[in-house]
Amino acid sequence: MTVTRVLVANRGEVAVRVLRACQELGVEGVAVYSTADAESGHVDLADRAVCIGPPPAAKSYLDIPALIAAATTTGCNAVHPGWGFLAENSGFARACEDNDIIFIGPRPDTIDLMGDKISARTAMSEAGVAGVPGSDGPVGLAEATQSAEAVGYPVLLKASAGGGGTGMRLVAGSEDLTRAFEAAAVEARAAFGNDELYLEKALTSARHVEIQVLCDGLGGVLIAGERECSVQRRHQKVIEEAPSPAVSDELRAAMTDTAERACRAIDYRGAGTLEFLVADGHFYFIEMNTRLQVEHPVTELVAGIDLVQAQIAIAGGATLAELALDSLTMRGHAIEVRINAEDPANDFMPAPGEITEFVPPLGPGVRVDTHVYAGYAVPPYYDSLLAKLIVWAEDRPRSIERALRALGELRIEGVPTTRELAIDILSHSAFREGDYTTTFLEDVVAELPTLSQS
Ligand code: ADP
Repeated sequence: MTVTRVLVANRGEVAVRVLRACQELGVEGVAVYSTADAESGHVDLADRAVCIGPPPAAKSYLDIPALIAAATTTGCNAVHPGWGFLAENSGFARACEDNDIIFIGPRPDTIDLMGDKISARTAMSEAGVAGVPGSDGPVGLAEATQSAEAVGYPVLLKASAGGGGTGMRLVAGSEDLTRAFEAAAVEARAAFGNDELYLEKALTSARHVEIQVLCDGLGGVLIAGERECSVQRRHQKVIEEAPSPAVSDELRAAMTDTAERACRAIDYRGAGTLEFLVADGHFYFIEMNTRLQVEHPVTELVAGIDLVQAQIAIAGGATLAELALDSLTMRGHAIEVRINAEDPANDFMPAPGEITEFVPPLGPGVRVDTHVYAGYAVPPYYDSLLAKLIVWAEDRPRSIERALRALGELRIEGVPTTRELAIDILSHSAFREGDYTTTFLEDVVAELPTLSQS
């Protein structure tokens, strides 16, 4: 069934991104918004917009019956979940199917399989995709102790239901294990209602490299290259780039083969991301995100594709061959900078408030995805992402210069943002040399003006 009208079950920047894809495809886009978001840019961009409830996400963007009602009353035959909120909620995907609405994403059982990190690890291991050495399944304290001894400290305790770093604890030595185990379990139970934990060796000098996949569910599998996401603050990505300066042609070929095997093993459909840690020339699976990612534009720019349009077409039954997406030629280098409303002087606390001035950068190779504008008030209820600045250039050095030029042009006043931090990072010698790991920001704290002052 061709997708004709899409309910965008999300807000802010991602809703804008999806609505733009709909418009270019000639598909109608219906926005939803909470009462806190009536002035958000995504509402204005839609053909139609439906208020779905009060500010708390549980009563609006996470309210499945309200979203299904919004889709059916506006005659939508598909729903795009964006990322966050219900994007990886199999109950929502099933509710869409039950109401004859296409869920633009993988099948609900795939969401379940990969959403539980232990079952994902097991499924990948069965497909010959190695995870970080660690426990075989969920562990109690005694098994965690044994497993930690076997792989060697430091280790990471992780919640099977985890996400965004929640329920994760780094354990330096055996004396800290008991306390960390209890803390991680309590945190996981509170956040996810599930305190199942597993254990991995902590790779202290690794890079986060992820592979974008796009599958039509009819045998077509496209591996759309890697993204380097090692610049992180508290396990949250800050700057992403494609390709990764750490991935050789040989490593890329091996990761591509592995990703294709993984997709075929679980008969994947739609866009998804396989996340790996790369250390000493080896790569280890950590998790799969069964949805579009925030950093997908860097892939779009080097691959010359539109992942959101492809998602919509695949959901309507198109094959990769029909979309001329059965192979790709990558070109140049792309960098994405996340501009968050966060206060560097206050430990990067979210800083809602009114944006008094907003002038996005222009010029060659620059893309800005955002829902904000001058006069927009950032509500305190949701994540702090204001905008993404993405640049493309022929090679990595020129891409860095272009990102710095664009950040110099970007004017955003009224709330503190991560703009200056990004300038510091892009100017740092280790970043410029491409020589950095997931601990980069901790390692260079004293050398970055924005971090050393905070
Ligand atoms: P979440 O789903 O909570 O984001 P992930 O498993 O994706 O958790 O891990 C988030 C980040 O934590 C990774 O990008 C990496 O920086 C770090 N990390 C995860 N697993 C390990 C590990 N075994 N060793 C070292 N760092 C890790």
